Amino acid sequence: MSRIAYVNGRYLAHREARVHIEDRGFQFADSVYEVCEIRDGALIDATRHLDRLERSMGELRMPAPMGRAALLVVLREVARRNLVRNGHVYLQVSRGVAPRDFPFPAGAAPTLVVTARSKNVAEAEARALKGVAVAVRPDIRWGRRDIKTTGLLANALAKQHAREHGAFEAWLVDERGFVTEGASSNAWIVTADGALVTRAADHMILRGVTRTTLFDVAAELQLRIEERPFTVEEARRAREAFMTSANSIVIPIVAIDGAKVGDGAPGPTALRLRALFHASAEATQV
Ligand code: PMP
Repeated sequence: MSRIAYVNGRYLAHREARVHIEDRGFQFADSVYEVCEIRDGALIDATRHLDRLERSMGELRMPAPMGRAALLVVLREVARRNLVRNGHVYLQVSRGVAPRDFPFPAGAAPTLVVTARSKNVAEAEARALKGVAVAVRPDIRWGRRDIKTTGLLANALAKQHAREHGAFEAWLVDERGFVTEGASSNAWIVTADGALVTRAADHMILRGVTRTTLFDVAAELQLRIEERPFTVEEARRAREAFMTSANSIVIPIVAIDGAKVGDGAPGPTALRLRALFHASAEATQV
């Protein structure tokens, strides 16, 4: 089946879908995005993703390409037209096309692109049951990581380093030695007394939608959450470590820069949170 992409009001063959060379997303990464899971034919946590999109656009004073209800229709339509039952829908909004100049252009219409892709569920499940390794890198990103922009070069460099060193994800570390988050995920550990630890969501990290929903799952399980920074050393000595994202949901981390976390086996808490995650998440049928 050939894939379909939505670009500025039109559903096009994916291979022919284009944006202009003077799009500010291309020129300046002046664009924001969301990735939403599709599971068993439903969009997962669409409300929280659209809330965050609105916040990202607001922080950048970027006009919305359309209202929220219309956006949701497009997301569902792209998922439907691509016959995605399990996978992801990707949405990007840029400030639009204008002659290349740094200040905001007057009157540019925002660009909206939406695509969807299926994933291999068995492969994702096998990865989660086995756990993954992470590689540690300095966090060299800008100071507004709370805004979900497409300025992802530092993330891409870190992820590439990880993959070249046998790791699935990179954990980024600030100048004081504390883990901020993963290249495309939030970072968590489980303490000896069973508390979940993740960094507070300030300007230094992205407030992951999966992270937010996991707070609800933890409440159901009566697990305590500590929002505070932790070092790589603390993570190595922790009972468990794991990552969260709309792409991965919850994946146990079994090694950090080649050193085992705990006994080197995927943590039971992480696997339990993964198993129960979708009971707490919002599902919107496509
Ligand atoms: N942090 C970063 C830097 C990310 O790119 C992502 C994934 N987009 C996340 C955290 C996790 O966010 P979410 O749970 O909303 O996918």
